[in-house]
Amino acid sequence: MTEYDFDLFTIGAGSGGVAASRRAAVTGIKVGICEDYRIGGTCVIRGCVPKKLLVYSAQIGDAITDSAGYGWSVDNVSFDWEKLISAKDKEIDRLNGIYIGMLERAGVHVFEGRGKLIDAHTVEVAGKRYTTKRILIATGGRPVVPDIEGKEHFITSNEALHLESLPRRILIVGGGYIACEFAGIFKGLGAEVTQLYRADLPLRGFDGDVRGFITKELSKRGITQVSGVHPAKLEKTAFGYTLHAADGRTFEADLVMAATGRKPNTDGIGLEAVGITPDKAGAVPVDEFSRTSVSNIWAVGDVTDRVALTPVAIAEARAFVETEYHGNPMAISHENIPHAVFTLPPIGVVGLGEEAAREKYGAVDIYRTEFRPMRNILAGRDERCLMKLVVDRASQRLLGAHMVGPDAPEIIQTLGVAVVNGLTKQQLDRTIALHPSTAEEFVLMRDKLPDPEVAKAAE
Ligand code: NDP
Repeated sequence: MTEYDFDLFTIGAGSGGVAASRRAAVTGIKVGICEDYRIGGTCVIRGCVPKKLLVYSAQIGDAITDSAGYGWSVDNVSFDWEKLISAKDKEIDRLNGIYIGMLERAGVHVFEGRGKLIDAHTVEVAGKRYTTKRILIATGGRPVVPDIEGKEHFITSNEALHLESLPRRILIVGGGYIACEFAGIFKGLGAEVTQLYRADLPLRGFDGDVRGFITKELSKRGITQVSGVHPAKLEKTAFGYTLHAADGRTFEADLVMAATGRKPNTDGIGLEAVGITPDKAGAVPVDEFSRTSVSNIWAVGDVTDRVALTPVAIAEARAFVETEYHGNPMAISHENIPHAVFTLPPIGVVGLGEEAAREKYGAVDIYRTEFRPMRNILAGRDERCLMKLVVDRASQRLLGAHMVGPDAPEIIQTLGVAVVNGLTKQQLDRTIALHPSTAEEFVLMRDKLPDPEVAKAAE
């Protein structure tokens, strides 16, 4: 029998890699993991966690603004970007330490450096080679910027989290999660923000109503939204930067951030040495058990370009360990995954949007409400909340729940249980409201909207 240095070697210590490695190690096998940046990966080090800390800071700004309506006088208010960034960095260091500790306690051997596949049983890290029975690729993804003249001047979310000072004016290119979230952060902390996107509305793939609603709310906050912008050239000028759009429009600012998607990290990891061909997006193709085309190599998380979310990478990692080390074949569903965009106000979604549900199910019932949350009244804040349910007309099963408004991510996480388990609208209606709350509207909506063709005929 061949003796390997390791039973499992994981390339990449982000959410998926760490979850799989420590769970595998506690089964008693010998596990190695390598990382070329910092243990914790995108989510902990330069994604979800630091971003959320900055969102909290912007929300505190909102609370200070709103406080006068509630009787508070807050004088001499000031904000210190450097202080925030250094507090955030300290917290990220703490979490990084926790992740390292978790791996060590599980007995995982940690190697610093970029991992490269030499053959199907050998990984090279920092010039040394290790043999292994199984390999897990969990190298994540990285931001990409538009391929235009002057592209070297773009910053991405990586740099945005480490700026030495808050820009006075910033352009944010993109209409996805990262663009919308950072627009809210920079605006909330005091910058002048212009968001430029190619489509008519941001957040392609989200429910159309949600897209229109959040665009209005972001505009109300003073974030300038410009649609139909295709970047053509980025120029450094004496005063900052000028972004030239393909249609001749120009936009100026002190800093330009590209939030134009992310790409799987497969370059230079030796896929060709083992005969794995990345797909068109550069991702490692896998089956429902995260198996690659090579029988002893698996891949989880963003590098597989399935659903690029931390809890999904962790669920895929757990399923891999369950399947391979506990003899319990497990594949996770990539449908009905609750997700949020931490804009101000935030968005929470689980399941299908109205358009996608009509396409898949035909007849659907739509329940929708829009109102000004109680908290905003005394505050004098002109910000509204949207809540929407999408229901399959034939079975009355809940297909989707959507919310834009305070605490939407927290509320939708719980409502996800109803959508994932196929509860019906009537089962939701049986629940007594918790009053006074915003969430109660989800069990109080009784009047469905007229079908679009009926509404049109009535116009
Ligand atoms: P997204 O895929 O969400 O959005 C990319 C945006 O960039 C789209 O608006 C797209 O426009 C635009 N775009 C792409 N190429 C160009 C180009 N050449 N010129 C101009 N615009 C361009 O990517 P993000 O980078 O925002 O986020 C990546 C992923 O990370 C997300 O999909 C999500 O899975 C995850 N994420 C999740 C978060 C959360 O859970 N809260 C937070 C942040 C990230 P168009 O629509 O026209 O194609």
